[in-house]
Amino acid sequence: MRNRLLPLSLFSTLLFSTTIYNSQAKEGMWRPADLKKQADEMKKAGLQIPVSKLYEDGKAALNDAVVIFGGGCTGEVVSAQGLVFTNHHCGYGAVQGVSTDAKNYLINGFWAKNNADEVPCPGLSVTFIKKIEEVTKQILKGITEETSEAERAQIIAENIKFLETGYRKLLGYTAEVKPFYNGNEYWVTLLEKYDDVRLVGFPPNGIGKFGGDTDNWMWPRQTGDFGIFRVYAGPGNKPAAYNINNKPYKAEQYFPINTSGVKEGDYTMVYGFPYVTKEYLTSAQLAQTQDIIDPIRIAARKIKLGVWDEAMRKDPKTFLKYASKQSSVSNGYKKWQGEIRGLELNDVKGKKLAYETRLMQKSLSDTGINSPKSTLSQINAAVEHNNNYLRAYESTNETVLGIEIIGQAAYLQRVLNIYRSGVKDKALTDTLAKVKKGLEGFYKNYDAVLDKQLFENLMPFYYMQPGLAVAPKVKSLYTENGSDFGKWSSNVYGQSALAIKEMAMHYFDAPKASDTVDIKNDPAYQIYHAVIDWQDQSVRPGMIAYAKRTDLLNRIYMQQQLQYMSGERNFYPDANQTLRLTYGHVKGITPQGTSLYSYRSTLEDVIAKHNPDVEEFNVPSKLRDLYLRKDYGRWNVNGTVPVTFIATNHTSGGNSGSPVLNAKGELIGINFDRIWDGTMSDLYYDPNLCRNIAVDVRYVLFIIEKYGNAPWLFKEMNLVK
Ligand code: ASP
Repeated sequence: MRNRLLPLSLFSTLLFSTTIYNSQAKEGMWRPADLKKQADEMKKAGLQIPVSKLYEDGKAALNDAVVIFGGGCTGEVVSAQGLVFTNHHCGYGAVQGVSTDAKNYLINGFWAKNNADEVPCPGLSVTFIKKIEEVTKQILKGITEETSEAERAQIIAENIKFLETGYRKLLGYTAEVKPFYNGNEYWVTLLEKYDDVRLVGFPPNGIGKFGGDTDNWMWPRQTGDFGIFRVYAGPGNKPAAYNINNKPYKAEQYFPINTSGVKEGDYTMVYGFPYVTKEYLTSAQLAQTQDIIDPIRIAARKIKLGVWDEAMRKDPKTFLKYASKQSSVSNGYKKWQGEIRGLELNDVKGKKLAYETRLMQKSLSDTGINSPKSTLSQINAAVEHNNNYLRAYESTNETVLGIEIIGQAAYLQRVLNIYRSGVKDKALTDTLAKVKKGLEGFYKNYDAVLDKQLFENLMPFYYMQPGLAVAPKVKSLYTENGSDFGKWSSNVYGQSALAIKEMAMHYFDAPKASDTVDIKNDPAYQIYHAVIDWQDQSVRPGMIAYAKRTDLLNRIYMQQQLQYMSGERNFYPDANQTLRLTYGHVKGITPQGTSLYSYRSTLEDVIAKHNPDVEEFNVPSKLRDLYLRKDYGRWNVNGTVPVTFIATNHTSGGNSGSPVLNAKGELIGINFDRIWDGTMSDLYYDPNLCRNIAVDVRYVLFIIEKYGNAPWLFKEMNLVK
C-alpha cells in the first residue's frame, strides 16, 4: 500500500475546510418528514435545493427513486427505464445464483449488450416506497395509564394488524408499521415490491470485491463495489412475476448523475434504509454488546472462516458454493472487531456514564419511581440479571447452530411438527412440499465434507462454553460418542439423512409412517433437538423476560432523555430499515496507526495494491491494460481515475448501495461501507471518527464504458456537470 503523504500546499486548505465543517458534521438519520425541521441546518451545511425536492408529503420527489434492494440493501433508480445502481456486495448472492461454472459472473463479471441480454435473477426484488406517515394515535388507541404492559403489547399488535390489513385492502400496498423512539411513536410505510429484477452489469470480483476481506471496513480502500440491475414491470407498470413480455419499469423520479466529482469539504447526503442502530443504550446495555455479544461472535466466526476460507482457496467449486455465505459471515466478523476497537479507543462506556451523570443532575428534582435515576438503576439490574442468558444464547447460535447440518435439522423438526399436527393425505404432501423448497435451496450451496470439518472445529469450542450454554443432553451425546469429536462427526455425517440431499428429500417425496422414528434417531437432529430443548427450558425464558422488562424501561428512558437532554444532543429515532437521509461533508481522516490523510483513492492506488498471487488483490488484466495505456477517456482526472471517497455521513448496515448525493441532490457516489474504528457508529456516532465510504460515480461510469464496453447504458442516464 502506498502512503500518500500530504503535500504542504494542501495543508492549509484542509485545515480550513476541517475547521469550517467540523462544527457542522452532525450525527443523525433523518426521516423524510423530519427534513423540513432540518432545512436550516442543511442549508447552513451546504444544501443548495429546497428540502421539498428530497421529500414532500403526497408529492413526487427524489425519495421515490430510493429503493430497498433485495432484503437488506438500498438501491437508487438512475434512469426512466428502471435502471438501478446498488453495491456489488448487495447483488452478490443473486449473481452467484445465476452463475455457473461455465458462466461465472463473480469471477468474470457480466455486461449486457442490450435489454434482451439482461439476466433474470430469481428471488431478487426491488421495493419502492409509496407513502410514509405517522400513525402513533391509531396504534396506541385503547391504551391508558392503567393498561398493563402485557395488555399494551396485545392492543398494539392488534392495532398494527388492523391498520396494515386496512391499508392493503384500501390502497393495495403492503403496509409496515414500525415503532420509533423505542415505542414512543409509530409510523407506517407503504411498499410496492417488484420481483422481476434483471442483472445488467456486474464487475468481476477483482474490481467489485477488490481488497476482499482484508480491506473490508478499511480505509483507504479501492473497491469498485457496484452492480447494475433493472426493474421490470407487468401491465400498467405494476409488479409482476418474471415474464419475458414484462417491460422496463417506467420511473418518474430518478437521480441525475453528476460527473464533476467531489473534493474535500463538499456537502453530501446519503439517502437509504439503515438497518439497526442503538444510539440510546445505557452504558450497561452497551457493555452487553462490547463485552459479550461481539467477542462471542468474533471467536466463533474466526473458527468458521478458518475452515471455509482454506477450502474455498483450494477449490473453485467450493468457492462458488460458499462465496455468498462466507461474505456475510466475514462481514460481521470484521465489523464487530472494528466496533470493539472504536468503543475502546474512544472510551464510549466512559462517555455514556458521564452522559448518565449529566442526565441525573438535570433531573434531580424528579424523585418519583419513574425518575431517570430509578429507570436507569432498573435497567442496570435487568441487564445484570440477563447477562448469563445472553452469553448462552449468543454462543449457542454462533457455534452449534452455526454448523450447517445442525442448523438445517430445523427442517426435520418442521416435518415432525407436521406429523404431530395430524394432517394426512393430500394436506400432508402439500405441507411437506412447501417445507421442502427451503431445504432444496440449501443443498445448492452445501458441501457435507467441508461441514464435517466445521463440526470438528466448532463443536469443541461450543463444548467449552461456560454457564448455561451447553445442553446437558449434548454432553451425554458426546459421551455416547466415545468423548471424541472425530468419532462423533463420523457418526453424524455418516448416519444423518441431512448429509445427503437425496436421503433428506425422501422425507418429502416419499413420506412413510416410520419417518418420525427415523428423524428422532437422526444424529444431527438429536443434537439440534437437545440444544433447542435446552434453550427453550433454560435460556429463552430469561431472554423473553428481559425483553419484556426492557421494552417498558427503554421506552421510559427514551422519553426521559428527550425531556432532559434535548439541549445537549440532536435526537433522531434509531434506524429500523425505514427511509432516512443523513448529511455531512467529504472529509479525510488519518486512520488509527497510520500517517495517511486522505479523502479519496484513485486508480493509482488500485494498481499499487495489485498482487497476482493474492486473489483479493489480483487486478483483472483488462483494467491493468487500461491503466498502462492511460485509456481513461472522459473519466481522466489529472491523469488518473478517482475510485472512492469518504465523508461524515452517519450511515449503517442497510445503507449499502445508497445514493450519495451532492448539494443539488445529484448522484456522486454509491455508499458501500464505513471505516473500521467508525463502525461503532451503530452505537455511538462521533463525527470526528466515523466516515462512510462511497465508490465515486466516475469510477462506476469508467468501468461501464472502458471495462464493460457497455456505454449504451449512458443513453438512458442523465449525466450532468
Ligand atoms: N458494508 C455495510 C453493509 O454491508 C455498510 C455499512 O454498514 O456501512 O451493510
